[in-house]
Amino acid sequence: MNAISVRNLTKSYGRTKAVDSVNLHIKKGELYGFLGRNGAGKSTFINMLTGIIQPTTGEISLLELKNTNTILKRIGVLPDYTAFYESMTALQHLSYFSSLQGAKKSKMECITVLEKVGLVPHAAVKVGKYSFGMKKKLGIAQAIINEPDLLILDEPTSGVDAESAIHIQRLLLDLNKKGTTIFMTSHNLDEVEKICTRLAIMKDGRIINEGTLSELKQKYTESLEVVMAISRWPSSQLLMEATNITGALDVLESTMSFRATNDEMIQEVVRLLVNNGIGVHRISADQPNLEDIFLNG
Ligand code: ADP
Repeated sequence: MNAISVRNLTKSYGRTKAVDSVNLHIKKGELYGFLGRNGAGKSTFINMLTGIIQPTTGEISLLELKNTNTILKRIGVLPDYTAFYESMTALQHLSYFSSLQGAKKSKMECITVLEKVGLVPHAAVKVGKYSFGMKKKLGIAQAIINEPDLLILDEPTSGVDAESAIHIQRLLLDLNKKGTTIFMTSHNLDEVEKICTRLAIMKDGRIINEGTLSELKQKYTESLEVVMAISRWPSSQLLMEATNITGALDVLESTMSFRATNDEMIQEVVRLLVNNGIGVHRISADQPNLEDIFLNG
């Protein structure tokens, strides 16, 4: 089942296409990361998903449901801005918000949710006194209060301190493990690399890359820089045989390095060395990280 299904989605502002013919299908159970530089179109995309703005053209389906009221009851949203009543406490907010969604939560239930986001010590403090990070946590609490099937979060950890960010990431992983589908934007590549099951990279309103992290890495791995620590210098005959497998190859003291275009190439070289009495103590191969993929996109 698709939790989010988007077909040909476009949002134009005059001549600017903030979102340009996007197709995206996100399965139930995923923790999906949505990346892009400032101005790429992420917020416009999310705001169309959550109904804050209307698409120029295209179709959106959430949880394969047709009825907007039912959808609203089953999704939780953290928008890129979250407006609170400054004179209400966190507890009052959660209670009020849950009742707006038609499922008013008890005080204990609200406290349990505040505990999840680390706000219990400030539960009775008026939101006007909250820092940006605390408001963000309250926004997340508000998004999860009615145990949604689908969470849509715009930058859930931006502007919070490192410890709180880790706390929020663990909470998202935990919710996802219990079955909540999560769609989130993030500026933090490490975060996406750490917690997301799939991701998309948006640029100029279009999705330029989509898949699991390993699929994206594979796409960007034309060759791996392989370095092997070996027990002794190979004979010139052996070096020639190794070069036949790898192409250009360097041997420096006790290391051999070359570029591998596939895993078999590495296996063949190891086999050749070991069969000729040379031990291979260590192999390292540099894979591109998400930053390389993102910057090259
Ligand atoms: P992101 O969230 O990735 O930073 P946005 O969705 O906010 O990107 O913006 C995408 C593009 O659409 C930008 O060029 C932005 O200037 C433009 N845009 C967004 N909202 C509006 C608007 N209300 N009116 C005109 N242009 C807009």
